[in-house]
Amino acid sequence: MSTPSKQSHKLLAIPGPVELTDEVLQALAQPPVSHVSPQFVAIFRDCIEMTRKVVGTKDGQPFIISGSGTFGWDQVAANLVEPGEDVLVLHTGYFGDGFRDCLRTYGANVDELKAKSGFPVELHRIESALMVKRFKAITITHVDTSTGVLSDVKAIADIVRRISPDTLIIVDGVCSVASEEIQMDTWGVDVVLTASQKGLGAPPGLSILIASQRAIQVFAKRRSPVTSYYASWKKWLPIMTAYGNNKPAYFGTPAVNLIKAYHASLTQITSASPSLNERLRLHKQVSQRIKAIAEQLGLRQLPQDPAHAANGMTALYLPDGIGASDILPRLAAKGVVMAGGLGDSKDKYIRIGHMGTSVVDATRGDIDTIASTLQVSLKEAQAAKK
Ligand SMILES: *Cc1c(COP(=O)(O)O)cnc(C)c1O
Repeated sequence: MSTPSKQSHKLLAIPGPVELTDEVLQALAQPPVSHVSPQFVAIFRDCIEMTRKVVGTKDGQPFIISGSGTFGWDQVAANLVEPGEDVLVLHTGYFGDGFRDCLRTYGANVDELKAKSGFPVELHRIESALMVKRFKAITITHVDTSTGVLSDVKAIADIVRRISPDTLIIVDGVCSVASEEIQMDTWGVDVVLTASQKGLGAPPGLSILIASQRAIQVFAKRRSPVTSYYASWKKWLPIMTAYGNNKPAYFGTPAVNLIKAYHASLTQITSASPSLNERLRLHKQVSQRIKAIAEQLGLRQLPQDPAHAANGMTALYLPDGIGASDILPRLAAKGVVMAGGLGDSKDKYIRIGHMGTSVVDATRGDIDTIASTLQVSLKEAQAAKK
């Protein structure tokens, strides 16, 4: 019998969800266990420990909660920002809009710095903005999945620490954790929020957020009540602390099978071969390969500066006269699923995800399949227009 990952299915080459390993798939197909059983508590504790490793923190507090990546925005907006406080949102695409809207929903006063199309926000603009106003928090989309633009979190964090040391540094790492380097402690980042289904190699369904001890202190000192029930760290912090100490606790049943799948993936990422560093190197290598092939095909990237292009995905403009709707069905018919654009010019470009096992396990041949199918489908789409 074929292993679960080899069962006939279309190859997912989108920026999440991604292809999963057999170990992860097998964890999903087991009878659920009790969320307060010693067996599950130990698994949850390990997930907390391994999550810390992936983002480079010793004492950051992980919150692993059922929800999608978006729920991380709610956690930040509900717990770390009080109504009327100022937040600076660095905008490099569609996901900056979402974070901004979420912050406003909870009463934050949001200023935005919008990047030029294809670039990250210039550092000198961030510097100036921080000198004019005292912001409670600044948000950075590490990789904006709508554009593939990669922001330099370390450089931005250095500036914030120098000019406005009390400002909380919040990183939306949904499309970067485990595919881009993140050193939370060394860089002085206060929150990394992410999700299970992109670089972390598990199915969708878990919101994963890591808060620095500084952020936890800021939360503990808030003056106004938290205006969310499910997102409140008042509820979740005791639960996460208990599991972290190998003790059961209850507030909302955890998605036990998803946690087991996440555990299986984290185990591969943090303690199997290749190492986390080697994985990051492989993401770079594969990314360069895909971007080189795209260039040969005459496809221009959305990011205009190679130093600020994501390593876990590629966003490519299509040639004039060809829309995403012309090429995506051709790719799908050949068994490869890529994504169209997001936002205003969504039919003008496509997005290719290359994260997780497709990148790390060369024996799967996924990257070859992605490259050859793109080539053939583009030719077809061009021929059909002639
Ligand atoms: C995917 C993504 C999100 C949203 O995550 P969901 O799991 O779809 O809610 C947020 N930010 C970024 C940068 C993303 O790539």
